[in-house]
Amino acid sequence: MGSPWPPGVTSGETDAPLCFRRINNRKKHTERHRDASPAAVYTICMLREQPRADETLQGVQQALDSRVWEYDGVEVRNSNAGLGLFATRRFLPGEVIYSTGWLTVKGPVEDVELVAQTIVDGRITTVEVTAKHMVVFEDGRWLDVPGCFINHSCAPNMKSVFLDPSGSGQPSVFDYVALVELLPGDEITEDQTRFDWGDDGLEFECQCEAAGCYGLIDGFGGLPPNIQQQAGDTLSMEAKRRWALLGPQE
Ligand SMILES: [Zn+2]
Repeated sequence: MGSPWPPGVTSGETDAPLCFRRINNRKKHTERHRDASPAAVYTICMLREQPRADETLQGVQQALDSRVWEYDGVEVRNSNAGLGLFATRRFLPGEVIYSTGWLTVKGPVEDVELVAQTIVDGRITTVEVTAKHMVVFEDGRWLDVPGCFINHSCAPNMKSVFLDPSGSGQPSVFDYVALVELLPGDEITEDQTRFDWGDDGLEFECQCEAAGCYGLIDGFGGLPPNIQQQAGDTLSMEAKRRWALLGPQE
């Protein structure tokens, strides 16, 4: 097993190596996609160096205003289920679709309406980001654009892998990783119950039609105990934190 980091970079270092890592990743993309913008990479790094500026709504909006939230290989599209995130190129199983940090919102969000620019159906478009796009984590909520438009499936084709490169015990970045081969035009889906506990009042009836569909989706906390028991070691973020506090129930 080789190190996932570039030579000379260890996971114990902080922000700068992450930027380095991301730029290295982007270089690989650049070889395949000549339109990839190095400026966009620089903006990501700069954004992450703003210390907690994203915690107020004003700070989050300023951060959202700082760039167009686009990544190679994905775009938001209108679909039967409203907006969703779609692959615009092929991804292999295990391939990172994109890698990012997230913005954290503190305080009440019920009536919040943020805006962000991303690619929708091939064009730079302003989209609304509301409480339903934010995931509860401890005393705040977090979001990334365009990942907040990824729809749920009980048989997902992608999972998010949270990384703690600083070793602080608090993940600071994550990768969206393809679980199966994705082709251009495929909708990217994730099982939201694996990171969301379900106390944000945003439950919904799932339409995914997968065998074993959970039906009502209300976070990991809303799943039947037998499914929770089987899935306890696949959790991240708030679902993992709360499951650890609760302990597996007999
Ligand atoms: Zn389902």
